[in-house]
Amino acid sequence: MKIRVGHLYPDYLNIYADRGNIAVLAERAGARGHELDVQAIGLGDPVPGEIDLFYVGGGQDREQALIAPDLAAKAEPLRDAAEGGAAFLAVCGGYQLLGRSYRDVAGDELPGIGLLPLRTVAGERRMIGDVLLDCDWAGETLAGFENHAGRTILDAGAEPLGRVVNGFGNDGTSGFEGCRYRSVYGTYLHGPLLPRNPWFADRVLSDALAHAGGPTELTPLEDGLEREAHMVSAERARARGGRF
Ligand code: GLN
Repeated sequence: MKIRVGHLYPDYLNIYADRGNIAVLAERAGARGHELDVQAIGLGDPVPGEIDLFYVGGGQDREQALIAPDLAAKAEPLRDAAEGGAAFLAVCGGYQLLGRSYRDVAGDELPGIGLLPLRTVAGERRMIGDVLLDCDWAGETLAGFENHAGRTILDAGAEPLGRVVNGFGNDGTSGFEGCRYRSVYGTYLHGPLLPRNPWFADRVLSDALAHAGGPTELTPLEDGLEREAHMVSAERARARGGRF
């Protein structure tokens, strides 16, 4: 199968090499005989139809301010795509802008696209470090690294991506990290998120395959190195201790 990926603002939102997640998806898709067809969606570009997976990386306030009005103008086709079952993976700055709004460190209110039931307000203290999450909906854990000033507040009843075992998560107090809605996943976990969480990479892939009308079952891969990376990362988060 061909999996069509729309990479939103790759020139602006790629902090901590977030685009590496796409390399992981391409590799894991290829190992199962599928192919990723990645197209960039930049400033002023229309949202192509028939995208199976939208990807948005992280960025600082400055980059977010540069793309936020353009992204807001794309809100309707992006929300329609999500309702039609397209998968989304959004990291940090991208995650914040899938919500309703982000008030940045300077106090400026950036519009979001209102796809995820949340809003974000920047605080003074940055929340930085290794994170371990319990994703009971999947019976798995996620390990990664966070670095954000934004405090994300989920609406009542919204589903987090995971519960914080170690780290700050969405706001440092709620015990929630990220958000998921249909096949849309938003998280603060940066950079090498998918290399050390292969189950999550496969979850995103199979959601995208479902939208493409393909088989969603993925043959297991060996993943020895990936599991080791997960363990090392999880151990670092545990060594950090509790929250705040
Ligand atoms: N500007 C946002 C914040 O600091 C996002 C940062 C990021 O993507 N690392 O909260």
